Amino acid sequence: MTNVILKASSIVTMDPTNPRAEAVAFDDATGKILAVGTVADCQAAAPGTAVTDLGTTVLMPGFIEAHSHPMLGGMITQTPSYWIAPYMGYPHISDVHALWTKVNAELPPDQPVVFEGLDRLLQQASMPTNTDLDAFFPTRRAVVLDNSGHVAYFNSAVIAFNKWADGKPPPNPPGAHFGRNPDGTSNGIAYETAAQLEAVLPTVKDAVPHPLESAAKWLQYMAGFGITATSEMTYSTNMLKGYEALTTRPDSPVRMSLYHMAIDSDAGVQVASPDPAMLRKQGVKLWADGSPWVGSIASSFPYLDTPAVQHAEIPLGPGGTAMMNYSRVELDALLAKYAPMGWQMSFHVNGDVGLDIVLDAYEEALVNNNLMGTDHRWRVEHCGGCRGDQFERAVAMGVTISLGPFQYIYWGDLLDGTMFEPAIGSQWMRWGDAVRAGAHLSFHNDGPVSPPIPLLNIQTAITRTTDTGQVHGANQIIGIEDALKAETIGAAYMLHRDDEIGSLAVGKYADLVELSMDPYLAEPLKLATEVKVQGTWRSGRKIDLDAYMQQIQAVEAAGTHPVDHAAPFTAHKC
Ligand SMILES: [Zn+2]
Repeated sequence: MTNVILKASSIVTMDPTNPRAEAVAFDDATGKILAVGTVADCQAAAPGTAVTDLGTTVLMPGFIEAHSHPMLGGMITQTPSYWIAPYMGYPHISDVHALWTKVNAELPPDQPVVFEGLDRLLQQASMPTNTDLDAFFPTRRAVVLDNSGHVAYFNSAVIAFNKWADGKPPPNPPGAHFGRNPDGTSNGIAYETAAQLEAVLPTVKDAVPHPLESAAKWLQYMAGFGITATSEMTYSTNMLKGYEALTTRPDSPVRMSLYHMAIDSDAGVQVASPDPAMLRKQGVKLWADGSPWVGSIASSFPYLDTPAVQHAEIPLGPGGTAMMNYSRVELDALLAKYAPMGWQMSFHVNGDVGLDIVLDAYEEALVNNNLMGTDHRWRVEHCGGCRGDQFERAVAMGVTISLGPFQYIYWGDLLDGTMFEPAIGSQWMRWGDAVRAGAHLSFHNDGPVSPPIPLLNIQTAITRTTDTGQVHGANQIIGIEDALKAETIGAAYMLHRDDEIGSLAVGKYADLVELSMDPYLAEPLKLATEVKVQGTWRSGRKIDLDAYMQQIQAVEAAGTHPVDHAAPFTAHKC
């Protein structure tokens, strides 16, 4: 047994019984904490162990992102793909056009390319047709994915590669369709997953030849922001081999909890994991409604009739029950199927009408399965347009809430007064109400929707400030303690891992983030830039992200853990 004692300038434990410490001792064979307290406490628990002094570094439990899509995130945002979302350095469509010109000039002539994140609202972009894209990519194949996940755009070279007879797409698959010109030929647009897959998957396969490495890059990216545990919210069985490889390397930086897409016929099956502490199936995921950026949320309130909303081709609504992906009868049937199996349920829902229906269905299923009052921790995700009284009802039922501050950070200025009337828009993502309701709250960035930056979520939660510095709904500001909980112990609770991670306490894993300064001492409006992430530890091992990539490349070269490109792509509707 080799023990380690780390001394820091301060340790924020997130354990209310022992909130601050100066040192932590752990057994690096088990990866578990032996003591958290003074140096003397640690030496008593680990006699004869040398003390490593980290100087001015502040330690915290590793951050936890309770809702992500790492495999998809890696495939479509990391090199060799290009991430063109507005907040990744492309605020306007003209910035995207400049990148397209540069890429086409620099890459080898036949190299196909994938761009993720065209945002019609924020970048003031129109839907590009094949002819629009041909102007930038006259010969190479080019695929552009809409930031909403609902639409894919492609150029004429892709249409030719697909060998569609006379350039005409095949018949529309169920629930999806191809854009067509008046003469029946493709206009270079595919709507919804099944049509996107048929139109662009062959090109994505050629453009992203190493999907396991791409997924590992996403996990590297998360770890770079201090994250040591996350989830895959769009798990399907053909991702299992890939996730086994990603989570069982010596330097695997991030623990993974899998939520199986309910649309899969085998969504109820158990998953045997080589290491349940690193990889485990936790629940089943459904989409109750859609996205605020395309007008598919089940809300009681309409959009405003403004030029930005018109330009993005968003129906004014209110969407109401028409935007539900399932009828109440269908929801009841799904819950009746999965609840008796013991799976934790997780529902994507953005609109207030949608959350009412989800909570009604949850209530009935919890009662029917004798789960009311138990430790079920069923989840609701995003909840952008939902209300505080709904959060109170969720809490009373034992339902946990994961909010996405990214919706507020990047779209907040549009939400308040351009997309919705201020009474709705200024209150989008009501983390203040959630805390007041006593929620088990977590935050997420929904990768690949937005970059996974816990410190920026915390800064935003405590200042209610968007990326342009504006404040909408200051009544939703929360304190730093509650914000930190949403990125640590609150998220661990949601993942049913609070007995293992989320705070620094004896017996838990030594999953740590090294910070350059105490987040409590940072200027709130500059927290995410003043506080630097210096590294992470997972199970008491200092993570080497370069070594991790080499370990993954070795697996990918061996071909023992193949990743099917179609699997994550099917999930491209976060
Ligand atoms: Zn998602």
